Parts: sequence; C-alpha cells; structure tokens
Amino acid sequence: MSEYYRTRERMVNTQLIPRGIRDQRVIDAMRKVPRHIFVEEALAGQAYSDNPLPIGYKQTISQPYIVALMTELLMLKKTDKVLEIGTGSGYQTAILAELADWVYSVERINELVIKARKNLDQLKYYNVAIKLSDGTLGLREEAPFDAIMVTAGSPTIPEPLVEQLKVGGLMVIPVGDEFSQTLYRIIRTEDWYEKEDHGGCRFVKLIGSHGWSY
Ligand code: SAH
Repeated sequence: MSEYYRTRERMVNTQLIPRGIRDQRVIDAMRKVPRHIFVEEALAGQAYSDNPLPIGYKQTISQPYIVALMTELLMLKKTDKVLEIGTGSGYQTAILAELADWVYSVERINELVIKARKNLDQLKYYNVAIKLSDGTLGLREEAPFDAIMVTAGSPTIPEPLVEQLKVGGLMVIPVGDEFSQTLYRIIRTEDWYEKEDHGGCRFVKLIGSHGWSY
C-alpha cells in the first residue's frame, strides 16, 4: 500500500464520511483516484488536505468534500453518459469516469485540456473525451446527457445545459455572484426543470456566452 493510499483513506474517514457522504460507490472512487497526480509536484503533499488548491491559470482543483458531494448528488449509474463543464485538473473527471459509462468534459483553457488529458491517459481513463470549448453552450453533438456537472460558478442556469439534459436527468451547478454561490441540483422535467438547494459553496467563475462575460 502506498503512502498516498493511507492519506486518501484518512481523507475519506475524516473529511467525507463525517460530513455525510454516504454513497459507497462515491466513497470507493474517492479512495481509489490518486488526487496527488492532478496537482503540481510541489503541492502533492497537500493534495489530500481539506481545501481547494491552485492548478495554474487562476483556476483551482476543488476541495475533496465538494467533489464527493457533487458526485453523490448526480446519483450516477454505470450506463450513464455524463457532461462535465470545467475539466480543470481532470480530477473530478476521473471520479466521474469511475462511476459512469462515458464522460464528456469541456474546458476553455487549452493548457488545462492538455494537462488533464495527460493525467487521465497516465491513469488509463479511456472513457473520457475532453473538448476545448465554451461549456456554457453544452455539447450539442453528444446530447442528450443523463447527468451534467458544472464545476465553475455561474450567474444563472445556462439554458443550453437544461436543454441537453434527458427528462429525469440531473444537473449539479453552483449559481450565485463571483464571491459565493448556492449549489443546486436541477431535475429536468417534461415542462423544464425543478431545483433543490444543497448549500453554499465558492467556485471560480464560469466564463462564457451563458455565464460571466470575463
Ligand atoms: N473540476 C475541476 C475544477 C476546475 S476549476 C478540477 O477538479 O480540477 C473550474 C474550471 O472551469 C477551470 O479550469 C476553468 O477554466 C473552467 N471554465 C470556466 N468557464 C468555462 C466554460 N465556459 N467552459 C469550459 N470550462 C470553463
């Protein structure tokens, strides 16, 4: 067992389970995916601590608890086709790839696309396609999706993402101003959608034609 495996075990037992993460499949994925691979080598020692970390280009890898919570809220099945907006380091993408059939992940910064691809290839996540694009437009050519996860804070719920969700499908998205947001779970209905409040959070901005303009 590697030193990092034990650190991950501690992360699960001190940060996730005590705060109410219950889904065993999510817990197993968080135990398995080597988070330290997704941060700069100099920060690897902090990879399992209870906070977000910088990944360059003014972006961050989310705190482990938030990754686990957002994943749990999507209630993924192994047959699901998932869309993620904001690949960043690719860590959340790897967690999704453990639980779903296929993950499409969209990122607007090319350097992050390249790095995330390298990390996911190294760990043999071949059920992931990463695309350089404005994720607020979704990914029309691959829609509809069983689930959508947005890992950047949006001023509103982008309509193209609701449109690209299957009826009965779930989307998790932080919505608010640039300093704090509410984590919503959207349930796509025949009529449009319903939303549930899952508490406060803080993400970097979702920048795009249905997000922030800069
Ligand atoms: N899930 C990531 C978190 C990355 S931070 C991780 O685990 O590391 C949010 C990411 O969203 C940033 O990389 C940022 O560049 C990206 N982003 C912001 N607006 C976007 C948009 N419109 N389309 C795609 N990606 C976007």
